[in-house]
Amino acid sequence: MARITRRDKEYQRKIAAERVEILFSLAEKTEDRELARRYVDLATRVARKHRVKLGKWKLRFCKNCKTLWDAETLRVRLISRPYPMIVYQCLVCGWERRIPLVREKKERRRTLRSSKHPS
Ligand SMILES: [Zn+2]
Repeated sequence: MARITRRDKEYQRKIAAERVEILFSLAEKTEDRELARRYVDLATRVARKHRVKLGKWKLRFCKNCKTLWDAETLRVRLISRPYPMIVYQCLVCGWERRIPLVREKKERRRTLRSSKHPS
């Protein structure tokens, strides 16, 4: 078996990134939700295996049930307490994704945590 060189890996990643893009756009186009879910599942698998970043697709699907979100399957809420954040709720499985809007606070929490548990 031929040795896998760094160049091969880079080439594979490029192909993988293209496939991820294709799979997501297929998922976006299809009317069939089950099929779309299958595409998203495949895309995330490919991305994970080849460490491809999801980029613009990152917040477009539910990480729990792999549904590609649209106006019917997603609820977006803005919450100000305990701190400002956006809550993405998947209406298919009820899973929530919280995105804090205050970066400094997030940073502070991280430093607090790491100072409490020095590793
Ligand atoms: Zn879901």
